[in-house]
Amino acid sequence: SSSKNEEKTYIIATDKTYPPFEMEDDSGKLVGVDMDLIRAIAKDQKFKIKINSLGFDAACTALESGEADGVIAGMSINDERKQKYDFSDPYYETGVSMGVAKNSGIKGYADLKGKTVVAKTSTAGLKYAQSIKDKYGFKLEVVEESTFMFEKVKSGEAAACFEDYPVLKYMVKTGQLNFDIPCGKESPANYGFAVLKGENKELLKKFNKGLAKLKKNGEYDKIVAKYE
Ligand code: GLN
Repeated sequence: SSSKNEEKTYIIATDKTYPPFEMEDDSGKLVGVDMDLIRAIAKDQKFKIKINSLGFDAACTALESGEADGVIAGMSINDERKQKYDFSDPYYETGVSMGVAKNSGIKGYADLKGKTVVAKTSTAGLKYAQSIKDKYGFKLEVVEESTFMFEKVKSGEAAACFEDYPVLKYMVKTGQLNFDIPCGKESPANYGFAVLKGENKELLKKFNKGLAKLKKNGEYDKIVAKYE
């Protein structure tokens, strides 16, 4: 039988490769802002976690089916999701940007006319692309993972992708993408840790408590600075 002091284990679902929020280091360990944050919070708030790296849409599905207790996956807090999930306090600012291959000649959304644009299923980037698709006359292709999206832009199969600005910025900066980000940031939002609406209240409370503590003691800034 479990003793009172035994730490509870929560299953946390996340995206696959989503730099700098979740990604594998050289030794295959999952690192990144989200991963470091959830581990530091778990340590501080004395709970255990099991991280399942499923992909963004699959992480949401796992949460909704009860296979995961929480999701941390660079998930933007928005009203639509608030109908289904309870969110933590915001922990990172984001927005959606267009990514294009360097020297592609695409300088604005008007240059997308007649071209193929790629976005990732269930994301804010996809939602934004859908909202301007008819106005600018492009075709929209939807893929499961950011990696597939970037491959299509690299190969020229797609003229552009819509992805979170911090992800594009980091991957360009670290040389993982030879892309330009010609336009600004759309759909500003914040990332939040999510639980299913009305469920896992204690987990959400611990997340917020831990986050506040890490912000206060400088640990949060250290984690973010590590991936800048
Ligand atoms: N921030 C975006 C969203 O919430 C994308 C998240 C992701 O792809 N992991 O829709």
